[in-house]
Amino acid sequence: MDLCNPKIIKEVMSAAKITFRHDLGQNFLIKREIPERIADECCDSEDTVILEIGPGIGCLTKELCERYPKVIAVEIDKGLIPVLGVTLADYANVTVVNSDIMKIDIKELLEREAEGKEVAVCANLPYYITTPILMHLLECGVKFSSITVMVQNEVAERLTAPAGDSEYGAITAAIAYYGEARRLFGVPAGCFMPAPKVNSAVVRIDLYKTPKYQPKSEKLMFGLIRAAFDMRRKTLPNAINAKYPEFSKPLIGECLQGLGYPENIRGERLDISAFSSLSDMLYEYKSST
Ligand code: SAM
Repeated sequence: MDLCNPKIIKEVMSAAKITFRHDLGQNFLIKREIPERIADECCDSEDTVILEIGPGIGCLTKELCERYPKVIAVEIDKGLIPVLGVTLADYANVTVVNSDIMKIDIKELLEREAEGKEVAVCANLPYYITTPILMHLLECGVKFSSITVMVQNEVAERLTAPAGDSEYGAITAAIAYYGEARRLFGVPAGCFMPAPKVNSAVVRIDLYKTPKYQPKSEKLMFGLIRAAFDMRRKTLPNAINAKYPEFSKPLIGECLQGLGYPENIRGERLDISAFSSLSDMLYEYKSST
């Protein structure tokens, strides 16, 4: 069954008496080469278990099942579960879980289902909730080998922007803390049904096996990043001081100069390594007072 054929998608859905749910970001792929390419490029090791978020009617799931030992697919829409029972009937290596990826205990699910193997994430993400899902995956306590996601083009640009770029933001810095993100390829809006208003792109994040940055306080470092981008028009001393009055503007300026930056720099020019160092300097100041 060609699960990217619009006629078949419509038939399968109408047999199950369901329609596309816009509120769940249901834009299904209708060009077979796209899920094939995502499945090919999402992972380097053939012995990796794949966690898929939002299988839809299973077009990407099927390609993943053909390449990897096991696929665990989490789908929120209970109307799609019987459909997946039919479309994936030929694959014994798939487990479909009817749940919200934001609510399920991912660590517990993978301890139960992944047989101790490495796990990579692969998903054509629902666009209404892209950033929360990415942050949830990074913070859920599972060491994924990689996370490959289809996202809106502008989100792809944000995820992969270098420091100083207009697209660089809090999510860019957060992703850079956990791994290296790169754009794999673009996907035009016409490759989906229904077609969204914007084009998309596939991004792969290879996660560090051992942490590359080890700030003394992760909480403070992320707090500084949030402060910097919540008030991105302010200089960094102003933005940080507004959120953390215990750190004076001259102190922050001095720390920045110590790191080789002008004291009136904006946060968007600092890469994750600089945020980590700045947070250590401020943490040490706090511990010594
Ligand atoms: N994988 C299919 C494809 O590529 O054609 C469908 C992708 S569609 C963009 C997003 C899918 O994510 C939908 O099936 C939707 O029901 C599901 N979804 C939306 N929110 C979800 C959530 N919080 N947890 C799990 N699945 C979700």
